[in-house]
Amino acid sequence: MKKVKAFGVIVMILLLLVGAAAVYYVLLPARTFDVPAVTLEGQNAQAFSGSWHTRLLRQPEWLAQHIPVVKESSAESPAAVTGQKDAGTFAQKQLALDIPADADSCTFELLRPFESVNPVVAEGDLSDWEDFRFSRNGDYCLTVNVHYDEDDAADAADFSYQFNFTIDVQPVVTFSSDRAVQGDILRVTADMGFETEAPTIESDLGLCAFIPIEGSDNGYEAYVPVGYSQPASARDIIVHAGSRDFTGHVVIVPADFEVERFDMPQETIDATMNVPGAGEDYKQKLGTLAEERYIVWEKLWDGQFIQPVEGVITSSFGLYRYINGSATPSRHQGIDIAIAEGTPVPASNRGQVVFADFVIMTGNTVVIEHGAGLKTIYMHLSEIDCEAGDMVEQGDIIGLVGTTGYSTGPHLHFEVRIGDQSVSPWPLIDGTSDIYGNE
Ligand SMILES: [Zn+2]
Repeated sequence: MKKVKAFGVIVMILLLLVGAAAVYYVLLPARTFDVPAVTLEGQNAQAFSGSWHTRLLRQPEWLAQHIPVVKESSAESPAAVTGQKDAGTFAQKQLALDIPADADSCTFELLRPFESVNPVVAEGDLSDWEDFRFSRNGDYCLTVNVHYDEDDAADAADFSYQFNFTIDVQPVVTFSSDRAVQGDILRVTADMGFETEAPTIESDLGLCAFIPIEGSDNGYEAYVPVGYSQPASARDIIVHAGSRDFTGHVVIVPADFEVERFDMPQETIDATMNVPGAGEDYKQKLGTLAEERYIVWEKLWDGQFIQPVEGVITSSFGLYRYINGSATPSRHQGIDIAIAEGTPVPASNRGQVVFADFVIMTGNTVVIEHGAGLKTIYMHLSEIDCEAGDMVEQGDIIGLVGTTGYSTGPHLHFEVRIGDQSVSPWPLIDGTSDIYGNE
């Protein structure tokens, strides 16, 4: 009897314990995660589903590892379940995804919902998303799963979020300015989006060409010359980008050019200008360099252009020159820097030598193409130390200062041209030129 009684008591106690545990289990609240929002490009989405498991007993860690007592709970969460987020339209190739800072991990799956074959575009973790770039326009559905690990203080949980949105990326064309001073260069950039063809550019300001912007995602740049003799006027620059045309309007502002009157020795004139065929010689050797075939279709220049030699500027850019009492001025297309004969002349920037030869009018002459048609020219050299076709780095010696050609004393004529338009070297040298963009 005693044994039976004792057994009964034990059973009762056990039943009470089990009952108490059952009541505790039932009453134990599922952990109320304050479900945080996940944001895509600043747009919040609430979780559309959540699941978590709650430990029944706050056991010591060693016991929990061996005999985990867990309450699984899902769906019926105190957390808001508000469903999918319609995030609208984005005009970019990459979207910023922010997950709660205390979450332990995150996975995503990106679908094209109206694609029956291979609808999954990408999947992975947060770092995969950060590396991901859209490659076509259309409708997308992004599911994000955020996971919380279990630890002493908190329960494990998973939440899912969903964004529906449209990607609509179109080419964007930017003109560096709507105003230019005679002698300036304008920079035009084209971010081509998903277009596979390169953009083209045309302007009656002069020949210009698009080259790829290194390291960019389908970006191009072109340099538009505003020659010193362009009249103060309003002009258009037209860019063809995919199926669209973009027009940039630019107002040309007159620069203040100097006027010079001087006497040129008749023997110099006779030895240059008056030599039969001198004009034809110049046109064939230097005039043809303005043609498209002398453009290098990549950016060769790197960093700021340098003034090749230091010395007295004896003739300024764009100068009106009245020679030997002539009533009509000629224009000076570059800058003249007076310096001792034999001074080494370095390349102003990285580029390819496209001409290195003697010209009756300009003496020993070197022309370097820096990409997109932007060229520097060095005239009247006593010696040429490079050949057409050479690649030169900034600072490489390409020749020596001299007084060959139409010149009265040792000096370097330094000139910058795009197509057949001469532009001012100074903004390139002092770093203020638009071509430097936001580098
Ligand atoms: Zn000159």
